[in-house]
This record gives sequence, C-alpha cells and structure tokens, in this order.
Amino acid sequence: MSTHILVLGAGFGGLELASRLSESVPDEARVTLIDRQEAFIFGYSKLDVMFGRRDINDVWHPYRTIDKPGLEFRREEIVSIDARDRRVVTEAASYNPDILVVALGADYNLAATPGLVEDGCEFYSPDGAVRARDLLAAFSGGRVVIAVLGGTFKCPGAPNETALLLSDYLARRGLRADSTIHLVSPLPMPIPISKKTSDAIAAILAEAGIEYWPSARVTRLDPASHVAHLEDGRALPYDLFLGIPVHCAPDVVARSDLVEDGWIPVDSGTFATRFPGVYAVGDVTSAPVPRAGGIAEGEAATLAEVLIAQLKGEDPPPPYDGAASCYVEFGNDRVGRIDVNFLSYDTPVARFNAPTPEGFAEKQQWGATRAARWFGSHR
Ligand SMILES: Cc1cc2nc3c(=O)[nH]c(=O)nc-3n(C[C@H](O)[C@H](O)[C@H](O)COP(=O)(O)OP(=O)(O)OC[C@H]3O[C@@H](n4cnc5c(N)ncnc54)[C@H](O)[C@@H]3O)c2cc1C
Repeated sequence: MSTHILVLGAGFGGLELASRLSESVPDEARVTLIDRQEAFIFGYSKLDVMFGRRDINDVWHPYRTIDKPGLEFRREEIVSIDARDRRVVTEAASYNPDILVVALGADYNLAATPGLVEDGCEFYSPDGAVRARDLLAAFSGGRVVIAVLGGTFKCPGAPNETALLLSDYLARRGLRADSTIHLVSPLPMPIPISKKTSDAIAAILAEAGIEYWPSARVTRLDPASHVAHLEDGRALPYDLFLGIPVHCAPDVVARSDLVEDGWIPVDSGTFATRFPGVYAVGDVTSAPVPRAGGIAEGEAATLAEVLIAQLKGEDPPPPYDGAASCYVEFGNDRVGRIDVNFLSYDTPVARFNAPTPEGFAEKQQWGATRAARWFGSHR
C-alpha cells in the first residue's frame, strides 16, 4: 500500500515538494496537494502587474494543468489542522494522511497598521497589485511613500526593487521631476546579509533620487491629513502610500496546535515539527532564513529527500544547507544576483553579482524553469 502524503498549500514550497515526490516515488507515495486558489502566481509577477509590464491575466499558472503520476491537486479551503492527530479538515473533505506537510505561506494583517486600509495600498497580494497599478495609472505626480510595515516580510529585495521600478515608471510617464519617493524599512540596510549588495543598492537608490530611511517603521497613517507616523516620532506626508503589510501565519495555521510565537517551529535541517509525521516548509515556519521563494524551494527539495529516503528505507540525506540564489531588480531592466548561504557556516554568507541586462534574462529563465517543472508550461 502506498503512503499518503498530504501537502497543504501549492505555492513555491508545496509545488516543489509535490513535483519531486511525483518524479521519484510515484508508486510508493500518493500525494494530495491542496490549495484554495485555482492558480499560482510568482511573487515578483505582482511587481510586473503593478508597473504595467504584464497583464494580471497573463501571470497565472492554473493548477488544473498539473498532470503528474501519483499526484492529485484539489482546490479546497483548509479550515482546521490538528497536528497531534494528523487530521485536516477542508470545506469539502477531511483527511488523515500518513505524512502531513504544511506549506501555507504567510498572510497579511492589514489591520495591524491603522489607516492602511482606508488611505494606503498594499501591493503584495494579486488584488493589491492590481489596485496599485490603477492608482499609479491615475497618479499625476507628488509624494510617494513605500513602507515595510513589519520586521518579517517576503523577499528582502522587493521593497528596494519597488522603489527603483517606481522611479523608472514615473520617469517614463514624465512625472519623476514632480515626484518624491521615500523608502522606509525596519531593516538596517537593504539586504542585511550582504553589505556589498546593500552598498550597491543604497548607491543606486541615492542616484535615482530615492530617500531611503533604514531602521524606521511606519506605525499608522492619518487618512485625514495623509501623513504616515513613524515609531521614532517622525512624520511623513504622502500623496500615495504603498505598504508592505505586517505578515502573519494564515489564520488556519494560527488556530492550530502547530504555532509558537506566530509561526511554526521546525528542525531547520529536516523541516520536522514537534509532531511525528508532520513537517512544514516555506514562509510559514520560523526557520532562521528569509521568507523567499528560492528558500522555500530549497527547503522543499530537502524535505523531498528526507521523505524519499524514509519511503525507500535509505539513510537520511544531509540537512538543508540554507543555500539559495536571489535576484534583485535594479531598474532599467538590470538584475543582480545574490548567492546566499544561511546555515552552512558560523554566520550567513553572501556573494553579490552586479546587475546586468543578462541578469534580467537569467531571472526570467529562473521563473520559466520552475513553471515548466511544476506545470509543464513555459510562460
Ligand atoms: C512582491 C513580491 C516579490 C517577490 N519576489 C521574490 C523573488 O524575486 N524571489 C523569491 O525567491 N521570492 C520572492 N517573493 C517571495 C515568494 O513569493 C514567497 O516567499 C514564496 O511564495 C513562499 O513560498 P511558500 O510555499 O512558503 O508560500 P506561498 O507561495 O505563499 O504558498 C502558500 C499557498 O497556501 C495557500 N493557502 C493559504 N491558506 C490556505 C487555506 N486556508 N486553504 C487553502 N490554501 C491556503 C495559498 O493560496 C498559497 O497558494 C516575492 C514576494 C512578493 C509578494
């Protein structure tokens, strides 16, 4: 009899894990992959949508195209997870798998920043990116504030990319001279793991005339006066406020027995939780690595090896090494790459590859290979 593996969440982590299991153990494992959405979107595609580079209808990868041996996708909303009993309930069914993997990502808590819903715009969800696109299209110049509102957020490079892409966008529309851009972030530098990358980004932000306020956090917006108030007492007036909301575990995870201090603690070498047969990967864990697709993918690849070894009765694989490559857009179709390793050495290490047009093509290719592996498509 094959082992039933239930994977919750068909994002970066869930898709990579399910694809690898299907490739390696299609007969030994029966994999059920559940997500409430009907399609996947790469995180960075939201920036493409927001700045009008791609239409929202062109960036979705429908789950119905997944056709892999031993793997079944089900579109269902997960309503409860009981890790102790390894029991999952969705709006359509209930499951008692042999192995449970939680890959439900991170959600957003917009209410954590008073005034954000009324007077700002988040652009980290697909709907938010579309709204930001429309607000930008109607924008006729003025003061723009881009603010990271919580300490833990997806893709440390993204706020810097947003500021640089916005500068390009406003320049293309002839509005740059009439606009200011402030970038406010609680991080002490753009990419804390790499001073070299951070220096390069800070220099390019300055060159683009972007006011960068590190180690600073906006705590609330005043919709009446259009002023953002910072933790340190400073105030920043805006005409357009683009916020990266406070992140949190999805509600169904927060209500489960898996969470401690807001996220799921795991063994960062194997992704085991404290419950036998229950694992978690990606943004939903408190592993000491950044929230990023490349990281979630590496974690899922390691977990696949862990599960494949168990199924085949082989020795366990080496623990996850914390290595990943992260692409960072510098505007003007130039992309740099940071090769990082968070877990193999005494301190996290990084190597910076300067931005080039070739880097832009490499990033496109990176996304295309994932889409091909998971969906059999090359969009
Ligand atoms: C603007 C932006 C730019 C980014 N750029 C990059 C980049 O350039 N490179 C990079 O590596 N990363 C980037 N990221 C980060 C990357 O998208 C995430 O870190 C990555 O998707 C995390 O993978 P995951 O599998 O943990 O979660 P996700 O990919 O978020 O997947 C979680 C899945 O769980 C599902 N789900 C949640 N709750 C439920 C429920 N109750 N029932 C059913 N399904 C549920 C969701 O629908 C979702 O599909 C970016 C993110 C953003 C927002």
